[in-house]
Amino acid sequence: MSKEGSTNLILLGPPGSGKGTQARKLMEKFGIPQISTGDILRAKKKEKSKLGQEIKEIMESGRLVSDELVIQIVEERLQSDDCSYGYILDGFPRNVAQADALDQLLERIGHKITQVLDLAVNEDELVRRLTGRRVCRQCQQMFHIEFTKPKKAGICDKCGGELYQRDDDQEKTIRERLRVYRDETAPLINYYSRKKLLKSVDGLQAPETVTAEILKVIEASRQK
Ligand code: AMP
Repeated sequence: MSKEGSTNLILLGPPGSGKGTQARKLMEKFGIPQISTGDILRAKKKEKSKLGQEIKEIMESGRLVSDELVIQIVEERLQSDDCSYGYILDGFPRNVAQADALDQLLERIGHKITQVLDLAVNEDELVRRLTGRRVCRQCQQMFHIEFTKPKKAGICDKCGGELYQRDDDQEKTIRERLRVYRDETAPLINYYSRKKLLKSVDGLQAPETVTAEILKVIEASRQK
């Protein structure tokens, strides 16, 4: 059961819109976990099992892994103790079937989504961001080879970990991920708008400005 007044957020938005960066900021600010299905799947794909191999192939093609698998992952994760004061869903749900399954799950476990934040960024900018993106292997901090360079090339400023380029951040895969976003994930904007949960934030602004806007939206919803 989630506690009264908990902050249960969904971050929507295309790949490269800054969901991961913003989720980490909110995690620090509110002390609630970021639940990134992408990060969980990246860990699973390293397992030397048939499932690990299947996940690897799907992720590298830019398609979505099965709804069944991600729903099971989220179902387990939301029932952990650290989620009882809130959480930030990053990269889930990704289509209407997952959103419907999430609704049913939340009802069963007595949780409610407090806000869905959509980070709006145009496609040219997303391609620019994703092709130059580098991620820390250890702490998942994001960098960009032009816009947010690390102080020392290839090394994370935060923890000294090694920076790498995600396999799915190659241009061909990026185009497929953006197509999947348009066809499958973008309909969730209407889905949550109809439920009066959606707020759109201009994701082209500086990351600190985006965080400040998100915090304002969360604050306003708490005062209602
Ligand atoms: P992300 O880190 O959120 O960009 O996700 C990277 C990849 O993981 C996606 O392109 C999908 O292949 C897979 N993935 C992440 N979240 C989901 C989800 N909710 N449903 C299906 N596949 C997902």
